[in-house]
Amino acid sequence: MKLQEIKNIDIAGKKIFIRCDFNVPMDEYHNITDDRRIRSALNTIRYCIDNDCSVILASHFGRPKEAFEEKYSLKPIAKRLHTLLKQEIKMAKNIVEPDTLEIAKNLQAGEILLLENLRYNEGETKNDEEFASKLASMADVYINDAFGVSHRAHASVEGITKYFDMKHKAAGFLLAKEIKFFHHIVHNPKRPFVSIVGGSKVSGKLEALHNLVPKVDKILIGGGMAFTFLKALGLEVGKSLVEEHLIPEATKIMEEAKALGVKLYLPVDVVAAEAFDAEAIAKLVTTQEIPKNWMGLDIGPATAQMFKLALNDANTILWNGPMGVYEMDKFAKGSTRVSHAVAQSFATTVVGGGDTADLVRITGDEDEMTFISTGGGASLELIEGKVLPGVKALVLED
Ligand code: AMP
Repeated sequence: MKLQEIKNIDIAGKKIFIRCDFNVPMDEYHNITDDRRIRSALNTIRYCIDNDCSVILASHFGRPKEAFEEKYSLKPIAKRLHTLLKQEIKMAKNIVEPDTLEIAKNLQAGEILLLENLRYNEGETKNDEEFASKLASMADVYINDAFGVSHRAHASVEGITKYFDMKHKAAGFLLAKEIKFFHHIVHNPKRPFVSIVGGSKVSGKLEALHNLVPKVDKILIGGGMAFTFLKALGLEVGKSLVEEHLIPEATKIMEEAKALGVKLYLPVDVVAAEAFDAEAIAKLVTTQEIPKNWMGLDIGPATAQMFKLALNDANTILWNGPMGVYEMDKFAKGSTRVSHAVAQSFATTVVGGGDTADLVRITGDEDEMTFISTGGGASLELIEGKVLPGVKALVLED
């Protein structure tokens, strides 16, 4: 797959529309608590400014229900951009109203305009043609640098691309990097290739599991989803999270792994609790001995050690989903141990998914990972082998 990239098109002196992902976490006082997503977009923005472009930035933020809700305004983002870029950011009052279109029209080289939250307009998520065409009318060139939403066919991600030919649209540096990493790891990994899959449910990652099994050498399954597999093997898992209707699918995945010679690892011990509660009494048990009314909320130390051993010879590790309820300290140890094991390995390590990215930040292993993907849903769809709608329009050749 060859992606049209910003560095390969002529942008000098042009008006550029950049779809960014500024959907950052904020506290109740509208303070940005983690500006990583904003900082990740700076490469592309600076490149455009250095090429004497005028720049229109657009992003969604949260899920507003009205045409304007102060708490979803991008004003705090404009302030942070100003701090980081050390230049004035013109903050639009809306998205595609005449006053904003006029500001966009008169934007000079080196100037930056930030549009209001794209989701104030319901046309964004509906991929509305009129909305997309108005967005497109503002600029000469369209750049997508929002990996986290590229799996959505939204107006600023998909609809808008129809208004630009291949010389006038491209992936920004961030999007290109994310896509290349995942493409390489899924299609051409250095072996042994080990995938660690966790998180709450099998249902959310079923397709990813089906797509991964034929590609990997080993697959380590933890988190809530492991219990559906353990139950499929006939174990009693108490009140642990189980998706009964997916037991046949879990069996199928295990049979396929066996037939292909892929080593599939499941937890051998878990931290079980009487309730889904940070204060609940917890104990360590083997997966053969989970008490009837207890639920497994983390992998135990024996499993973490086993996973560590299985990772020893890995040359590529792809990790998506925590090993337990890492949000509660009591059930975070398994995920922390696995995070350290991944960080200490000599493999190329790719971490995908919002929770897992969050986790490796908490464990302090972030700098040791080769690549941390910003987009959870988008990275899962890439692993599932799908072409993301926002990327499809930017592909030069397959
Ligand atoms: P996902 O969005 O599917 O990647 O799931 C992430 C969530 O799975 C996190 O919020 C964890 O708290 C949750 N999780 C992980 N392990 C378990 C478990 N054993 N039981 C219930 N929830 C879990």
